[in-house]
Amino acid sequence: MQRIYNFNAGPATLPLPVLEEVQKELLDFAGTGMSILEISHRSPAFEKVLQEAKADIKELLGIGEDYEVLFMAGGGSLQFSCVPLNFLAAGQVGAYSITGSFSDKALQEAQKVGTTAVVFSSKAQHYNRVPRPSEIKLPEQCAYLHITGNNTIEGTEYFQYPETGSVPLIADMSSDILSRPFDVQKFSLIYAGVQKNIGPAGTVVVIAKKDFLQGRPKNLPTMLNYEVMLDNDSLYNTPPVYAIYIVGKVAKWLKAQGGLAAMEKRNRAKAALVYAALDAHPEFYRAYADKDSRSIMNVTFGLPTKELEAEFVAQGKAANLGGLKGHRSVGGIRASIYNAMPLAGCQQLADLMEAFWRQHK
Ligand SMILES: *Cc1c(COP(=O)(O)O)cnc(C)c1O
Repeated sequence: MQRIYNFNAGPATLPLPVLEEVQKELLDFAGTGMSILEISHRSPAFEKVLQEAKADIKELLGIGEDYEVLFMAGGGSLQFSCVPLNFLAAGQVGAYSITGSFSDKALQEAQKVGTTAVVFSSKAQHYNRVPRPSEIKLPEQCAYLHITGNNTIEGTEYFQYPETGSVPLIADMSSDILSRPFDVQKFSLIYAGVQKNIGPAGTVVVIAKKDFLQGRPKNLPTMLNYEVMLDNDSLYNTPPVYAIYIVGKVAKWLKAQGGLAAMEKRNRAKAALVYAALDAHPEFYRAYADKDSRSIMNVTFGLPTKELEAEFVAQGKAANLGGLKGHRSVGGIRASIYNAMPLAGCQQLADLMEAFWRQHK
């Protein structure tokens, strides 16, 4: 068996100890005589998995009883619809900061539901940056401000969140959730498809103020109503059992690593290695994101020609560095260096960048 350094954007690399544990208990989960794939979502064994996953996520984020953790299905993309359906009433305006293709998709879904306003867009600059807090002016009757915490495709990330006063702040943190500490209290609702940073494909974690979830419109489709999920503790129907189980294991792994402060230190050190390699040869490696907005989760850059980019990806693959091809809409190279990517993987990538430059300068 040979595992590679997996730089794919999502689904993405998971901690090896988590995978090993999953393998070990696959055939007989917690003495049930069944695998986790086969047990009832109403069984005590799964109830324990669910409650521990919720509690561990809350502990990692340092939040208390006023917040709830929900697990939903439909991916980050269904949340694009859930947010306006739940919170954008007639006469109100949903404000969107457009910093990448996923923010744009979120906006498009909201436009089907109600009135929206674009309060910032870097689209004309190919989404090369996120706004400074002072650049955002909210409209009258603002229902919420929606931001994308980390722009997975473009490689930009917010390190300072907008100030919204009494207007609820909602964030899509699909690709940076649990990568570093941040002030959760600023946010009314956060959602994250887990398959980037904290699990496999199949579930979305929603972290929200309980009172924000209450009083949702009664005519919403049941499965899209956050209040139904809250009232039923994410068990209105069969939840994505397996994905929740893995998220729970990743949360325990994060705690064992020292929590989010330790993860931030490690994630920043990893990103620094790759950005240093990039900045060493700016005439060769073209950084996609503005310096202030550079993501510590997805590093994006171009080479002088498409041929060189293809050659770089091929050399990476030959050296067991997989998944370096950029998203089809942006091209170039993208290295996704989520929580589970070890420092050694980033060092090898940086070494490849230096060697490749020497070959082709
Ligand atoms: C991947 C991603 C999505 C879409 O997630 P799906 O689970 O594929 O629907 C949304 N937002 C961000 C920031 C993402 O990275």
